[in-house]
Amino acid sequence: MSRTVSHRMLATWLKEVGVDHVMLPARASSSARAMLPSLSDGDTAAAVPPSGPAVETLDDIRRELTDCRRCPLCAGRATVVFGVGNPRARLMFVGEGPGSEEDRLGEPFVGAAGKRLDRWIARIGLRREDVYIANIVKCRPPGNRAPLPEEAKVCLPYLLRQIRAIRPEIVCTLGATALNFLLGVEEKITRERGKWRERDGVPVLPTYHPAFILRNAARETEVIGDFDALASRLRLPPAK
Ligand code: URA
Repeated sequence: MSRTVSHRMLATWLKEVGVDHVMLPARASSSARAMLPSLSDGDTAAAVPPSGPAVETLDDIRRELTDCRRCPLCAGRATVVFGVGNPRARLMFVGEGPGSEEDRLGEPFVGAAGKRLDRWIARIGLRREDVYIANIVKCRPPGNRAPLPEEAKVCLPYLLRQIRAIRPEIVCTLGATALNFLLGVEEKITRERGKWRERDGVPVLPTYHPAFILRNAARETEVIGDFDALASRLRLPPAK
């Protein structure tokens, strides 16, 4: 069945059941927009389901992690830091794992590194609420160390399911740990940042971790270049 026919059928059915206004994500195709009764951008309300098998929601995934005891990190955590942001985000960031502030507040990137990340996001004309932010592991590693491979292995399937549920146009990894665990590689971030990769069909752009930039200010120009590349690929209007 062609996409056009299925959009027309959908529009007809929506009218029949009394729906005269549908919120679509910004990336919805122009043919879908053209067919439906009345469309506007947004991520709330009754979005048209993607074609193909039903995709689970972030809440479905979150529910499975309530009180998770699948790896030893559960022993030292206060909160499972699931992720935050727009469930229909076009751009998703992946960091390493929660620090102490994140563990306390239950939200990723809320400390000093998070403030720097917010600044980079604002620079391309977006707000934290527009994007989605998650980590390789959802529980704080002791002493803020990097997650161990066995911890990342247990947690990674949940991150991959989050990516599938959100369907971002781009994932930007922050730092070597996020790059290596998400892509299953062992590479140096200094060599790989700024080079487009792919995971499960989603373009991935690795850049530096904001905590690294807090200690190495001279390298921030490289991150700014990477964010310009994100903005350009997403066709965001030039920042003011
Ligand atoms: N660093 C990370 O990698 N993730 C966070 O959530 C906070 C700091």
